[in-house]
Amino acid sequence: MPKKHRVIPIVKQAAAAKPRVHYDCLKCPGYCCSYDIIEVGKRDIARLAKHFEVSYQQAEDRFTKYDRDEKVRSLRHQKDKLFGKICTFFDTKKRQCTIYEARPKLCRDYPAEPRCGYYDFLKFERDHQQDETWVALTDR
Ligand code: SF4
Ligand code: SF4
Repeated sequence: MPKKHRVIPIVKQAAAAKPRVHYDCLKCPGYCCSYDIIEVGKRDIARLAKHFEVSYQQAEDRFTKYDRDEKVRSLRHQKDKLFGKICTFFDTKKRQCTIYEARPKLCRDYPAEPRCGYYDFLKFERDHQQDETWVALTDR
């Protein structure tokens, strides 16, 4: 049986103004950036091309790959000591996105609700360990 990929979920953005959120991505090691599949569309690739001042085709070739199992185009990955692999645009030392203004729509929309389950998990573990730097891992 083929290995099941962890696909970043596509979530619908609420039509109303964004509510106050209860998570802080700057304090998170980047769980959502470690999904196996971070799907991108044509507009995302065009945005990346503009950001890096390269052609659409160059952006598609350099930064994305086609997943035959899931039949989607997604961002490439790099090695990561915490999660095994993570998005190619993630700064693995600062634990932050390096293309925040040019990130794909999927990343902008996630988690599309006031709470992030990963952040709640992280907060719980940090409180439990009484260590604000503790990095709780999930299935890796
Ligand atoms: S997992 Fe949640 S808190 Fe962490 S970077 Fe993603 S959206 Fe932000
Ligand atoms: S583009 Fe940025 S926000 Fe999106 S997965 Fe990659 S590092 Fe994370």
